[in-house]
Amino acid sequence: MKAEIITIGDELLIGQTVDTNSAWIGAELSQAGFDICRKISIHDRREDILDAVSEAVSRYDIVIITGGLGPTSDDITKQTLCDIFNGRMVLNPTVLSMIDEMMKRRGIAMNENNRKQAEVPDSCRVLYNKMGTAPGMWFEKEGTIFISLPGVPYEMKYIMNEHVLPELKKRFQSQVIIHRNIMTYGTSESKLAEILSGFEKSLPPEIKLAYLPSYGIIKLRLTGTGRNREIVENIVDEQVKKLYSIIPQLIYSEIDEPIESFIGNLLKERGLTICTAESCTGGKIAQMLTSIPGSSQYYKGSVIAYDNSIKTSLLNVPEEMISNYGAVSEQVVAKMATEVRKKFRTDYSVATSGIAGPDGGSESKPVGTVCIAVSSDNGVGVITEKYVFGNERILNINRFSIASLNLVRRQILQLQK
Ligand code: AMP
Ligand code: MG
Repeated sequence: MKAEIITIGDELLIGQTVDTNSAWIGAELSQAGFDICRKISIHDRREDILDAVSEAVSRYDIVIITGGLGPTSDDITKQTLCDIFNGRMVLNPTVLSMIDEMMKRRGIAMNENNRKQAEVPDSCRVLYNKMGTAPGMWFEKEGTIFISLPGVPYEMKYIMNEHVLPELKKRFQSQVIIHRNIMTYGTSESKLAEILSGFEKSLPPEIKLAYLPSYGIIKLRLTGTGRNREIVENIVDEQVKKLYSIIPQLIYSEIDEPIESFIGNLLKERGLTICTAESCTGGKIAQMLTSIPGSSQYYKGSVIAYDNSIKTSLLNVPEEMISNYGAVSEQVVAKMATEVRKKFRTDYSVATSGIAGPDGGSESKPVGTVCIAVSSDNGVGVITEKYVFGNERILNINRFSIASLNLVRRQILQLQK
């Protein structure tokens, strides 16, 4: 079953309002087994609405439209759809009494604009809206269903959940679509695509693979489509197993979660604790770890040793070590990690020192260089890594932090590189 989403509103096109409606509708329809083929945003302009609707007729099974149902002169969706579907505006007494009741509850007098909202085309089925004054409308033309909903997100969601989704699910024995997200870290998107090229070629036709990268983490989304949920799930499971056999060291989670959540669960399950000593990341790792609910069970605290004097005074990094190797060195971060772990009495610690940029780089240590150390009492001792990322400061800080958390993962699970 093919679906299209049309969002209407000048504010969406000029970036004044972010179109969250289509993302939500897309997720819901996909979950219900519909194939979302296209989504577009258009102006509150009669000819644009006419074009969009005429393109969709007989091309898609379902078209969900949001926006432009307000009572003011800039909202023209209702009148335009009324004309397209050869209707006549009629006053709907149920809608009128719902609006009347709503206004009375709010202590507001009904005006002409409110009364206009109770007028609907006689060619549609009305989708009653308990959350607001604009009703939704259900039209059908040449095998395509057009559903027009208000732009206000909570009103749209109410009508979708209450009226639209149950009816669509009942009416269409729709297919099952299953998404499985496999979280990876440790290689680039292009390298990963090269490693997985054989896997991709051997995928059964009902499975699709997508790469979704963000700050070094690449989410692999496997999407399976079919009629029977159990069969599709089994096929997807088989492919996940195959992925594990090809890239076991790169996969950190089988659920769509950030790496700090994975690390948090790992520490919690094993009753372990961690602390941080951060220079170039300035507390970002601490912030990521503490953004996870329940982090007080395993996270102890941080020394933000941004200036060298703090590295020496609070973390006992010898001045000679800094002058001999530089503040951005594996020796210095190893010492920072060892000392902070002693001070905070934790099972693990992670330390960073690097050059986030845009200034401060040199030939031997360009902008984007970071040294990371993870110290533990698990017998492995201190492990260090040096990486070089890009030129953009905030991107670097994010990438340094995620690389650090991945090193923590490697240390806890005792994984090879
Ligand atoms: P409308 O139904 O066009 O009067 O829209 C009412 C309000 O809903 C607008 O002021 C926007 O803030 C919001 N809105 C409209 N379309 C969207 C959309 N696609 N995503 C998120 N919010 C929206
Ligand atoms: Mg509008």
